[in-house]
Amino acid sequence: MAGLLAGKRGLIMGLANDKSIAWGIAKACAEQGAELAFSYQGEQLKKRVGPLAASVGSTELIECDVTDEASLDALFARIKDIWETVDFVVHAIGFSDKNELRGRYVDTGRENFAMSMDVSVYSFTAVCRRAAAIMKPGGSLLTLTYYGAEKVMPHYNVMGLCKAALEASVKYIAEDLGKDGIRCNAISAGPIKTLAASGIGDFRYIMRWNELNSPLRRNVTQEEVGKAAIYLLSDLGSGTTGENLHVDAGYHVVGMKAVDAPDI
Ligand code: NAD
Repeated sequence: MAGLLAGKRGLIMGLANDKSIAWGIAKACAEQGAELAFSYQGEQLKKRVGPLAASVGSTELIECDVTDEASLDALFARIKDIWETVDFVVHAIGFSDKNELRGRYVDTGRENFAMSMDVSVYSFTAVCRRAAAIMKPGGSLLTLTYYGAEKVMPHYNVMGLCKAALEASVKYIAEDLGKDGIRCNAISAGPIKTLAASGIGDFRYIMRWNELNSPLRRNVTQEEVGKAAIYLLSDLGSGTTGENLHVDAGYHVVGMKAVDAPDI
C-alpha cells in the first residue's frame, strides 16, 4: 500500500507533541509519500514540533493562531509561496477552558462558549476557505471530531456542542467545495490520551469505559486514526465527502453496557 500520497503536498495543523492525533496522521502521510508542512501554535510548541517535523523530512514550520485572521492569511500565503497549491489540509485543533470541561454543561459561560466555538469550529471554515483558494480538483480537507457531538458524554460539555457544529460545517463545506472537486470530511476518533484530552474531567474513566464496552473491546491508537486519514486524504476516498468516519473501535454503535464488562 506504499505511496498512496506520493507527489502530494499537505499541511498538518494541530501538532503539539508525539501524542497528538496530528502526529499519528502526519506519520501515516509521510509513510505514504506525502510532502508535509506543519503549523503550530506559539513559540513554546516550536521546540517540540521542530524535531518531529524533521523526522518525517519536513522543515516547513509555520506559526499560526487560528483565532487570528492575519495569522491564517500569513500561513496560506506561505504555503502558496512554497508550493503554489496544496493537496490536503488536516485540521486537528480544538480548545476550551478546562474548568468548563467538568461539572454541568448548563453552567457554561458566554465567553468560553464563544472562544471554544471560535477555536474549535470556525477555524475549520476559515482554513477551508483559504485552502480551497489554492487547491486543485482532487483536494481533500479533514478535521477531527468526537462522539460527544452525537450523544452526551460526561464532562465534554461545551466541546460536545462545538463538535456538533463542526460536523455540520463539514457537510456545508462539502457541498460548497464539491463543485470544485474538493472533498471535506471528519474523523470521529475514540478517546486517545493527548494534551487536549487531559483537560477533560474523568478522561481516564471515559477511556476505560470505551475499552470495556466498544465492540473491539479496546481503545484506538493515533496510528489507527492515521490509517483512516490516508483513506480520506488519498484517491482511495475520491467518492467520499461530507462524511464523518468513526475510528472508535465501534463504540458509536453500542446501545448499552457490554454484558461481559465489569463494573468500574
Ligand atoms: P493535542 O493537544 O495534541 O492537539 C490540539 C491542538 O490544538 C494543539 O496542537 C494546539 O496547539 C492546537 N490549538 C489549540 N488552540 C489553537 C489556536 N488558537 N491556534 C492554533 N492551534 C491551536 O490534542 P488532540 O487530542 O490530538 O486534538 C486534536 C483534535 O482531535 C482536536 O480537535 C480534538 O478535539 C480531536 N479529538 C481528540 C480526541 C482524543 O480523545 N484525544 C478524540 C476525538 C477528537
